[in-house]
Amino acid sequence: MLKVVFLGPPGAGKGTQAVRIAEKYNVPHISTGDILRAAVKEGTELGKLAKEYMDKGELVPDDVIIGIIRERLSQSDVRERGFILDGFPRTLPQAEALDKMLAELGLPLDKVVYLNVDDEEIVKRLLARGRADDTEEVIRNRLEVYRKQTAPLIDYYSEKGILVEICGVGEIDEITKKIEESLGLNG
Ligand code: AMP
Repeated sequence: MLKVVFLGPPGAGKGTQAVRIAEKYNVPHISTGDILRAAVKEGTELGKLAKEYMDKGELVPDDVIIGIIRERLSQSDVRERGFILDGFPRTLPQAEALDKMLAELGLPLDKVVYLNVDDEEIVKRLLARGRADDTEEVIRNRLEVYRKQTAPLIDYYSEKGILVEICGVGEIDEITKKIEESLGLNG
């Protein structure tokens, strides 16, 4: 059982690394970005609402995101295998709501993996990725939103003593290894 949050700026490689660890150790990978993009594609009410924010690089409102996570965490695979959260929490209210939900489920967080990548590298990577919300203006806004709303979570989890910081620049395999070590996994 693994109960981990992946934290870091957009383009840090959270998704890539979260999927790798999730597949290797058979742990549910929960990406709010993936869930929202699926809803946009299906044209659901949630998708229509989320798109307004995603297109601008803004955060979808906390209550909407917390509702999605509450439902997902209540499923049996999470109880049996834990979770890797990727892209959630992104604000202090989300982090506090997560703590409460996990306390109720009796599934406290093991670790928060903070993937650190400098701004210049982030912009380069996101421009190369070319996703719909990866235009230069939207990238710049996502970075600002990250700095203002998400970066405070680094201190939040550091104070709880569960933060591990990992440099997200370098070979993908090497970064995966460092993450595994930090989580006490044998590789
Ligand atoms: P991501 O794939 O994690 O980069 O997320 C893409 C977009 O989905 C973000 O720019 C936000 O608009 C939205 N989003 C994803 N996760 C969250 C979250 N935890 N809180 C608010 N908005 C989110």
